[in-house]
Formats: sequence, structure tokens, C-alpha cells
Amino acid sequence: MSDKKKNKRNNNKNYDEDYNPRFRKQRKKVCVMCSDKNFVLDYKNADQLKKFVNDKGKILPRRTTGACAKHQRDITIAVKRARHIAILPYTQN
Ligand SMILES: [Zn+2]
Repeated sequence: MSDKKKNKRNNNKNYDEDYNPRFRKQRKKVCVMCSDKNFVLDYKNADQLKKFVNDKGKILPRRTTGACAKHQRDITIAVKRARHIAILPYTQN
């Protein structure tokens, strides 16, 4: 009985050690604003803010931007301010 269980457990492992899509090793992105102290987020700078929105004009998630929680909040506020003064679009088509 115990042998059967062991075999089953081994058979479930149908991935290689090197390539397992469920536990793919990901390099942790470093926050742009934390790493670069000269980087100043400006809500009037459209080119800068375009990096943090997708082609539909939506704000990108933290897993995509790589920003830390504090700076992601700053990005969100900056993008929303830019939308309000018509520098960035709310939506695109
Ligand atoms: Zn940061």
C-alpha cells in the first residue's frame, strides 16, 4: 500500500526539474523610482506616463510596471491627474 502511494506520487511529477511552468523562476523587477533617485514622476509629462499605461489607456498593474506599492500609488495618482487635464486619454476606441 505504501509502495503504491510512493509510485503514484512519483508519477505525478511529469515535468522536468529545469522546466516547470507552474514554478518558473522569475527575475524580480526593481522599482524604477526606487532604483533611480533622479527620476521624478510628473503628471504633466505625458511621455513618461505613457510607460505606465497600455495601448487602451489603462494603468498597468504592478506586476508589469515593477513599481513598489508606494510608487505604484504615485503612478496611479499621476495618471489620473494627467487624464483630468486631458494629457492622457481615459480610453482609446
Ligand atoms: Zn519604488
